[in-house]
Amino acid sequence: MEQVLVEKKVLAASERLSVAQEQLDAAIQGSGASRPDVEAMKGVSERLREARVCIDQIQQHIGATAEAAPSMRHCPACGASIRAKATLCGHCWTKVSPTL
Ligand SMILES: [Zn+2]
Repeated sequence: MEQVLVEKKVLAASERLSVAQEQLDAAIQGSGASRPDVEAMKGVSERLREARVCIDQIQQHIGATAEAAPSMRHCPACGASIRAKATLCGHCWTKVSPTL
C-alpha cells in the first residue's frame, strides 16, 4: 500500500467516526432519553464497522512494511547500508556492534 493510500484510509476512518458521532448525538437528542432509535443505532454501528475495517487495513500495511524492510543503518567505517543487527559489515568486513 502506498503512503498516499494509507493517508486516505486514515482520513476515511476518521470521517466514519465523525459521522457515527453526529448520528449518535442526533439520536440522543431526537429520541428522548427513554427510547433509543434502533435505526439510528444501526447506522452508527455500520459507520463504526467501516472505520474499523479501515484501521485494520492500516495495521496490516504497517505490519507488512515492518517485515519487508528490516531496520538498516550505515557502516561506521565505509558508510555502506547494513542491517541494524549485523555484527560484520558485508562490504568492508569491519566488525560492528549490533544495535538492538
Ligand atoms: Zn563497511
